[in-house]
Amino acid sequence: MRILVCNDDGITARGLRALVEVAKEFGEVVVVAPDRPQSGMGHAVSIGIPLRLYPSTEFGEDVTAWACSGTPADCVKLATGVLGEKPDLLLSGINHGANFSISAFYSGTLSAAMEGAFEGIPAIGFSLLNYSMEADFSAAQAIVREILLLYLSQPFPAHVPLNVNIPDLPLSAIKGIRLTRQARGRFVEQFEKRIDPYGQPYYWMVGRFESTDTSPDTDLWALQHGYVSICPLLTDLTAHTYLNHWEIIYR
Ligand code: MN
Repeated sequence: MRILVCNDDGITARGLRALVEVAKEFGEVVVVAPDRPQSGMGHAVSIGIPLRLYPSTEFGEDVTAWACSGTPADCVKLATGVLGEKPDLLLSGINHGANFSISAFYSGTLSAAMEGAFEGIPAIGFSLLNYSMEADFSAAQAIVREILLLYLSQPFPAHVPLNVNIPDLPLSAIKGIRLTRQARGRFVEQFEKRIDPYGQPYYWMVGRFESTDTSPDTDLWALQHGYVSICPLLTDLTAHTYLNHWEIIYR
């Protein structure tokens, strides 16, 4: 099996290394990851600027790896378009930080998985609920291994990428794995105004997530209660139940 591994925290991120180590147990690994942090880039693609791929020895001799000058979605496009045959599986992450609820719209980690789904590649995005670049991924690696075994025995269709969030707990404290739906919620943005050395104002966006959705079938509930959350995603944003909301008017 040929496994493409991407992320949004950049090719040197510890979470990517942790994911590559597990992926190697399952097949031949190719890494194409951004050459710098690209968190929060969503599904951005680079248009009108050159994209560059630099060979990387970050993961040793048995892993072909490339640092890409573009976004996470660019990485997947380049990997499938330039580097040869389509991979059998795409893994993204392990992200340094949570990606539940509406984060799917902002996350580079999940956009890489979504891009895989567009290309017909089965894809899974993994995130650990710890934003530190020094986070411990050992429990997350055991969870990734367990989920990959499950996925290979009972795969999801390629158009349904999985969004996996792992609580930042020791393995013995993780209660189990739940299939979930996205909790309804939003980011409440606050802006800290500061002054740069030239006397000009600049702003730091310091949002916090807010939700009143306490339903136990959500990703938020699972994570708050010590479970791994697996949320199957769709790339079709159509509100299918509203297609008859208005009578079509022909002019
Ligand atoms: Mn990230």
